This record gives sequence, structure tokens and C-alpha cells, in this order.
Amino acid sequence: MKQLRNNVIRAGLGALYFSGAHHLLRPLLSGVGAIFMLHHVRPAREAVFQPNRHLEVTPEFLRATLCHLRSRDIDIISMDELHERLVQGRFDRRFAAFTLDDGYRDNLDYALPLLREFDAPLAVYVASDFAEGTGRLWWTALEAVIAKTEQVDVRVGNSALRLDATTPAAKQATFDRLHDWLRALPGEHDLAREIEALCTTYDVDMAALCRSLCLSWAEVKTFAADPLVTIGAHSVSHCNLAKVAEDVAAQEIATSRARIEQALQRPVLHLAYPYGDREAAGMREFGLAATAGFKTAVTTRPGMLFADNAAHMTALPRVSLNGNYQDARILPVLTSGAATAMWNGFRRIAAA
Ligand SMILES: [Zn+2]
Repeated sequence: MKQLRNNVIRAGLGALYFSGAHHLLRPLLSGVGAIFMLHHVRPAREAVFQPNRHLEVTPEFLRATLCHLRSRDIDIISMDELHERLVQGRFDRRFAAFTLDDGYRDNLDYALPLLREFDAPLAVYVASDFAEGTGRLWWTALEAVIAKTEQVDVRVGNSALRLDATTPAAKQATFDRLHDWLRALPGEHDLAREIEALCTTYDVDMAALCRSLCLSWAEVKTFAADPLVTIGAHSVSHCNLAKVAEDVAAQEIATSRARIEQALQRPVLHLAYPYGDREAAGMREFGLAATAGFKTAVTTRPGMLFADNAAHMTALPRVSLNGNYQDARILPVLTSGAATAMWNGFRRIAAA
């Protein structure tokens, strides 16, 4: 199912590019700017089984994106400035902001040098447990479990399942099955219990994965010292905020921010909702972020920015730089707004 959707989107992007329709749609859909969303930035890896590949782009693709924006004379600005331009209605020049979620060390190693080269600001949203070295990167842990075994024995509800993991295709199918199951579990505790059980059975050290991939507090501080860098909050535990009680969600937001402010000795004014889709961030979360005083909060809902987004500053859409589509030919489609409009069924704003 996921593969089918990916194929449709891929065909869609290709069709948009080759038909040239994105040129025609641009005045209508490109809006005033865009916020790009990234996760890992690192060199491509050899393994065939890479179910989380959508969460990483290569430094070369990031460079191509930066070159494309510069060639279009699009301003690359910080989230503070983006907030200011939206508030003031200053749209004489188109703009883009770069945001990187979770707080991965490769952001410091690969993204920062490139962004410096282009004098381009970036925002990194840190989940405080990740910087603490105790984060639950369950999607990475699930990949590690399936990568190292030929079958996964797991109890899903009342049935004991034995899932094939002998070939890359079988591993992918097993990953999709378990990923969907884990994300659909009723509570964060259920997710924690099940992924920890899998890690114990298949001898995967989730804390070690976290420490090897994520910026430590010392590294976050180093990162933040660069004037191009804004550090934002991304909750404490990277939980689905919409699935927890309201006081817990408020606590996740407030505590992560306090922890980062304590480490950096500066205010944290920007937030990214973990997962950030409709099932993870809705009206309640947008309100919590506004009440907490964040200037902006970003979702993972696809979309360009329009003047109207100024009225929904804690429900901002983004444009994903998705590792599955690292082809420089899609960049004009992405910046035309045609791709996100396609994903939204050609609605401009999806803030409710
Ligand atoms: Zn995240």
C-alpha cells in the first residue's frame, strides 16, 4: 500500500515535471515562501534494506536544493525572520527556511558546513531525550531488528506472527507491517513496551542507537553557537502529542523547552510537533503551542506558505525533502507548489 502511494506520488511528480504544468501552476500555488523539512543529512549508504530512507538526504541533494533556491533568487531566512515577514506581510521577495527535525549528529557534520557555504540559516528541533542519550528512536530500532534477522516472531494482539525477513523485499514488507502496527497502538506506553520487547529479543541496544545518531547536549551547544543556527523544541520523548492527555502534552512541550533553554541559556521560540501529521498535531496542540508562547510551530502537513498562514503561526506546513525523491529535476516542482498542492488535493491551506 505504502509502495503504491509512493509510486503514485513519484509518477505525479514526474508527470508534473515533464508536462511543464508546474510552470503554469506556479503563480497560483507557489505562495510567498516555504519551510523545508529534513531529518538526516548524510552520504548514501550501501544497504538495500533502508526502510527509513525517506528520512535522509545526501549532502549533494541538499547542495542542489540550495543552488536551486539561490538561482531563483529566493531568500533563505531564519525562523525568526520568517515569523517577522509573515506578521508584517512583507512578501516582496520569496523566501525559504530550512528545518531539521530530531537533532541528529549528521546535521552538524554534513548540513552545517553546506549551509555555511551558502550563508543559509537553519533551525534544528531537538527532542530533549534524544540529546540526553535516552531517546526512543523506535523506527530506527525496528530497522535494526529486521536487518539482523531472517524472521521476526512477534505477538500482535491475540495472534503470534512469524514474519519473513529473508530478502530485502520481505524485510521491507515486515517493516511496513510492524511500523503501521506500532504507530496505531493506543498509547505511548504500548509503543514503548512493544519496541523494547523486540529490542530485547533481537539484541538491539536502543539507547546505544540514540547515542550514536543524536547530538549530545555538548554538541547541541556547539551547534547553537553558530549564528546561522536556531535550536527549537521537539518534545521530551518524541511522543505523539495528540495521543496523550492534554496536561501530558503541555508538559512534553514545556519541559523540552526548559531543558534546551537550560543547556543553551537562551530562549527557545520555535517548536516542531513530533510526527506532525493530522494524527499527531491538531487544534488542541496548535493551541498548546500558542499558549506556551512559541512564535512558530511547524507540522509535517505538506504545503507552501501563503499570507493567510500568518493567522495560523503554530500550524505551519512544510515541504519535505524526502530521501526517496532525490532528483534535482523535482526541485522546480517543489518550489512551484505543485507537489504540495497535489498532496493536498489542491487546497491551499490546511491549518484546521
Ligand atoms: Zn521527529
